[in-house]
Amino acid sequence: MSDDKLNLLNFNRQSLEAWFIEQGEQKFRATQILQWIHQYGVQDLNEMTNLSKSLRQRLLETTEIKLPEIALEQTAKDGTRKWLLRLADGNCIEAVFIPEDDRGTLCVSSQVGCALNCSFCSTGQQGYSRDLSIAEIIGQVWIAVRSLSADNKKHDHKVTNVVMMGMGEPLLNFDNVVAAMNIMMDDFAYGLSKRRVTLSTSGIVPAMQRLAEVSDVALAVSLHAPNDALRDVLVPINKKYPLRELLAVCKDYFKKDTRRMITMEYVMLDGINDSPQHAQELIKILRGIPAKVNLIPFNPFPGTQYKRSPQIVIDRFRDLLYSAGYTTITRKTRGDDIDAACGQLVGKVNDRTTRTRKLLRDIPITAAQ
Ligand code: SAH
Ligand code: SF4
Repeated sequence: MSDDKLNLLNFNRQSLEAWFIEQGEQKFRATQILQWIHQYGVQDLNEMTNLSKSLRQRLLETTEIKLPEIALEQTAKDGTRKWLLRLADGNCIEAVFIPEDDRGTLCVSSQVGCALNCSFCSTGQQGYSRDLSIAEIIGQVWIAVRSLSADNKKHDHKVTNVVMMGMGEPLLNFDNVVAAMNIMMDDFAYGLSKRRVTLSTSGIVPAMQRLAEVSDVALAVSLHAPNDALRDVLVPINKKYPLRELLAVCKDYFKKDTRRMITMEYVMLDGINDSPQHAQELIKILRGIPAKVNLIPFNPFPGTQYKRSPQIVIDRFRDLLYSAGYTTITRKTRGDDIDAACGQLVGKVNDRTTRTRKLLRDIPITAAQ
């Protein structure tokens, strides 16, 4: 059985170097392997021609390169592409690629489900199953890069940015997410700059402090409400880490390095958090934090009580923030025809009967539509 073999996708440069040294091998083997796997997309150790035959043989016996399986791949009319990936234990996760004029952003999942139960989030409604391994996180990037380059003639977009905004709370899977982001930023792997890798968090304050120590990726904070009473309802983790503590840690994040970027995410929920008073309150609490604000039109899903704010309300909210000096972007809704908002496709699959779920497990690979 391959179960006891080490999956080479679970290593970043640091841990792979340590592993090779432990094996009595040269440290530079690590960068060679990373290049083969992540830059050249090679899965077969026999093709890694700059490794000696005996080393290849030993690696074949003890290691493997095991990726999640593509259960479904869909491309929306606007080029947004979504992969439903089946993990070895049968669980499914999603990754979404969003092409824009000047960039291609891949939205990556960090957990199967999420325990934090935000009331407007499809993933939150599904509950938490488990953390993803490093291999399962970086495997999403591997699969997206290969799938897009195979299709280069139709969509000449590349993955230029990664956002940890898929399923799950990345800071509750801290070590694996940080290691996977290291691989994204490693010149011997995907070589993305720290400004092009963004971690989005619902506000796990102690883990944000830890992140500032070990990584300088861009940070996005899921704020969604300008006061504790409302945030307690929308983002229940607020009861544990209230706004005062969350905003204090955001200020610290800047103090350490003023070039660091923080984006405040704010989902626009009709009649809930979108009034001019909410905008004024938001301006007040953000004072002293040079953050950008990202307004996200709510993506409805079956069974939700919320509605998306009308465009005119979103524009009014944006204008108020803008006149107070905040760079404010309204996120475009993309891939509506394929349920591209993260968590939605898995949500649908899990809503189906066991029979359908089993069927989906049995689908080998579905070609892009
Ligand atoms: N758990 C992390 C990252 C994943 S969610 C976090 O909460 O930040 C990524 C972003 O999508 C978050 O800002 C989240 O609040 C937002 N989001 C979740 N459900 C949404 C929905 N139905 N419509 C719009 N945005 C949503
Ligand atoms: Fe979890 Fe983020 Fe969804 Fe909240 S918004 S339930 S933290 S994935």
